Amino acid sequence: MTKRSSFADIPSVDKVISDDACRTLVSRYGHQFVTATARVILDDIRANLRDSGNDIASISVIIERIAQKISDESQFSLKPVINLTGTVLHTNLGRAALPESAISAMVTIARSASNLEFDLVRGKRGDRDEHIEKVITEMTGAEAATVVNNNAAAVLLTLNTLAMAKEVPVSRGELVEIGGSFRIPEIMTRSGCKLIEVGATNRTHLKDYAQVINKNTALLMKVHTSNYEIQGFTHSVADKEIALLAKRAGIPFVTDLGSGTLVDLTQFGLPHEPTAREAIESGADIVTFSGDKLLGGPQAGIIIGKRSLIDAIKANPLKRALRVDKLTIAALFEVLKLYRNPERLTDSLPTLKYLARSVEEINQLAQAVLPAFVEALGEKASVEIRDTFSQIGSGSLPLDLLPSKSISISSKAKRQSDQHLQEIAGMFRALPIPVIGRLNDGKLLFDLRTLVSSKDLISQLGQLGLTGKA
Ligand SMILES: *Cc1c(COP(=O)(O)O)cnc(C)c1O
Repeated sequence: MTKRSSFADIPSVDKVISDDACRTLVSRYGHQFVTATARVILDDIRANLRDSGNDIASISVIIERIAQKISDESQFSLKPVINLTGTVLHTNLGRAALPESAISAMVTIARSASNLEFDLVRGKRGDRDEHIEKVITEMTGAEAATVVNNNAAAVLLTLNTLAMAKEVPVSRGELVEIGGSFRIPEIMTRSGCKLIEVGATNRTHLKDYAQVINKNTALLMKVHTSNYEIQGFTHSVADKEIALLAKRAGIPFVTDLGSGTLVDLTQFGLPHEPTAREAIESGADIVTFSGDKLLGGPQAGIIIGKRSLIDAIKANPLKRALRVDKLTIAALFEVLKLYRNPERLTDSLPTLKYLARSVEEINQLAQAVLPAFVEALGEKASVEIRDTFSQIGSGSLPLDLLPSKSISISSKAKRQSDQHLQEIAGMFRALPIPVIGRLNDGKLLFDLRTLVSSKDLISQLGQLGLTGKA
């Protein structure tokens, strides 16, 4: 027992690896990975002995530590979370949750070879857009369509194709930053075109566009300012008027809808957001919008419009760099198909289900999970149901807050109650399936608008282990 440890007592890597207890690890994770992990653990032990003279662990303890490290490193950092932030389309939480039909389509296509770019009738090379173009044009009334990685890519590719080394007038009221450093002026520079700012921040008139059109003007562009709104003494030019002006000048009119939607959202009690069809009907030659915002699908950028312009966009070598993969195409098709039956969307499409959820239904969910919150938090915090507002997120309809219900937690700590709440929020985030809320006005709120399953949430809360602790 009193024997002093020395470096000579540290077993060799070979000795550890060939131990019976290590054999299952080796057969499961491979000789190379287990050996490398063993080396790291043994190096640690050596360093520990050198620095603090600590006793050397027995070989079985060393193997346990190797197994623990392997298990830690096998955890994927990207994992499901329970989004109770009150933001339905939360960019940092992966935006739209997909419907089951889209998920199974992805799984089917992932599992084997497919006719992604193969024409089964002619036995020749095909085009991946062909699987998706028809349903997009059906939903939007556009002549042609193509799909890229996201809407930022759609804007970049459109401008690079149609406006490289030329001028593009845009209203000063529309020079938006979308977040994650996507700013219209910068994307224009990167697309190789020159932004010509027209009008003022709050007011832009048709003559402002007309004045700057010259032989170097490539197109007119309108950006849907989805993540903010200018109110008060404002004026912007209607799409129809810009379209007419562009037509007279013989140049295309491009609209970036940002979120965009395929249906009239007012039928679900939501505020109006321009639809892709409306944009086309107003005379836009090209319209771009996002796949995973209000559309509720996979991350994608959808470009629709005139056949000749879409053909030019598809012929741009950058299209190859920005194209979508087969899984996205599979999921997008299934999501678009759901729009054939708009009345059922609040059942069939998770994004619309959450957006259209009534306060009564949210309140029922709140009542159902309240006792589990009370139990998990014990005496240390007070828990109640509060009226709150959720938001759509992803820069959609920024001013329109949806009435909702949240579980509201406030600290009973007399001092540093903010810090206490932060700690509680941290413990919710540390759950096996992390539960993400939001801190607001001295309270930790869990908005139930986006709750998928009360049962799953309650089972997570059971593991919180806060009672008597925090
Ligand atoms: C969100 C948004 C984009 C970018 O769309 P992503 O799909 O996130 O790349 C572009 N333009 C506008 C106006 C937007 O709101």
